[in-house]
Amino acid sequence: MHEDYWNECLNLIKKELEEQSYNTWFKPINSISYSNNILTLKVPNKFFYEWIEDHYLKILNNSVKRVLGNKTTIEYIIKNDQNDKEESSDKLNFKLYDETNSLASNLNSNYNFKNFISGKCNNIAINAGKSITEKPGLTGFNPLMIYGGVGQGKTHLLHAIGNEIKSSNNDNRLIYVSSEKFTSEFISSLKNNTLESFTNNYMNLDTLIVDDVQFLYGKEKTQEIFFHIFNHLNLNKKQIIISSDRSPKDLDGLEKRLVSRFKWGLTVELEKPDFETRKKILIEKITNNNIKLSKEIIDYISFEVDTNIRELEGIIISLIAHSTIEKSDINLELTKKVISRIVKDSNNEIDIDYIQNTVANYFKITKEKMKDKIRKKEIVIARQVAMYFSKDFTNHSLKSIGNHFGGRDHSTVIHAVQSVNDMIDTDNIFRNSIQDLKKKFQIKSL
Ligand code: ADP
Ligand code: MG
Repeated sequence: MHEDYWNECLNLIKKELEEQSYNTWFKPINSISYSNNILTLKVPNKFFYEWIEDHYLKILNNSVKRVLGNKTTIEYIIKNDQNDKEESSDKLNFKLYDETNSLASNLNSNYNFKNFISGKCNNIAINAGKSITEKPGLTGFNPLMIYGGVGQGKTHLLHAIGNEIKSSNNDNRLIYVSSEKFTSEFISSLKNNTLESFTNNYMNLDTLIVDDVQFLYGKEKTQEIFFHIFNHLNLNKKQIIISSDRSPKDLDGLEKRLVSRFKWGLTVELEKPDFETRKKILIEKITNNNIKLSKEIIDYISFEVDTNIRELEGIIISLIAHSTIEKSDINLELTKKVISRIVKDSNNEIDIDYIQNTVANYFKITKEKMKDKIRKKEIVIARQVAMYFSKDFTNHSLKSIGNHFGGRDHSTVIHAVQSVNDMIDTDNIFRNSIQDLKKKFQIKSL
């Protein structure tokens, strides 16, 4: 009997909804019983129930009331609710268990902790990652949110954490997924009427790793389902690890309630690689590839390629390719050629423009101010330093140097060089700055 009632309700609901919504949200519901004015419905999971309550409550209520009268209330049973003993032998549960046991984790075993080089820029993130692998879900680092710019090792680190969790406990049901793949899986589950298994698949995990959550930007429905999955896993003390190319406070295209949850656990940054780390990574990669580079070239590359590690790898791969094709050793000339092709602003000439840019950057001012008439102390100093290096590292005459700095006189340049020399003698911090910059220009001019 209750089936008939429910079918009648469904017929009413069907008229109100688009076919796809109906198929997605109502078809999977079964009626279990109807007694004492209570209609009990079985829904595939908690998410379903919440979604229906949020979006279709009115339609559902109206139809039930029309068929069964005003006093009727609706009760839900969730298919694989763990407390529901009766349901635990349910076929569906059994099937799910089977499915998740042979779950594809999508982990790339080439990305592990062993080949993830540590340094000042990533130590904290590595340690946080390692510490959750011992007790996934049970540390304060849940969720663990890793953020950093492109090519800085987020994806590598996520896989390393995943691989480590799996190798200490192969039973841990774990999935690595990019937010784009998550989105397209979600959309096709709507199309194919498999939303139920989509959500179940994720809600049954022990560890969920989602890469590049910034791509959820503007995808409200996907964010919403992710939010539910997130809550479900979090409530059940399951581990969540996410990455993003920016810090949570800059994730303004994402729903606030979602971003605020990202901050519940630990947020760590993968910083731009520092010189020492870049050098370590470079040495490691060339050693693995049986390539020999002189110390000079190693320094040159580590210095020049300061954007991110992917770019550094790109340079190494190109160098290997060139040396194989041209059957020649990798010398400095080849290195410079390769770098100038790959690194955008690379130009092997040291010219006044390059010096102005480098010095302005170092002193955190703009190049324009350097050429202006501004007499603020820090700008005057930066201007003088740039003039000093222009004299040292280019063949321009004093007059020409002066011209490049907003048409100043050659005597201004002489004065600048003297001032810089004086400060080098009297000011330790300043001396160090000059040495830093000098090293950069020297390496560049090799
Ligand atoms: P992201 O996901 O942040 O854009 P990836 O994880 O894809 O960056 O890293 C880019 C490349 O650099 C990958 O090939 C990765 O193996 C390598 N890489 C990044 N960080 C390190 C590191 N600390 N040690 C070794 N290789 C690294
Ligand atoms: Mg990545």
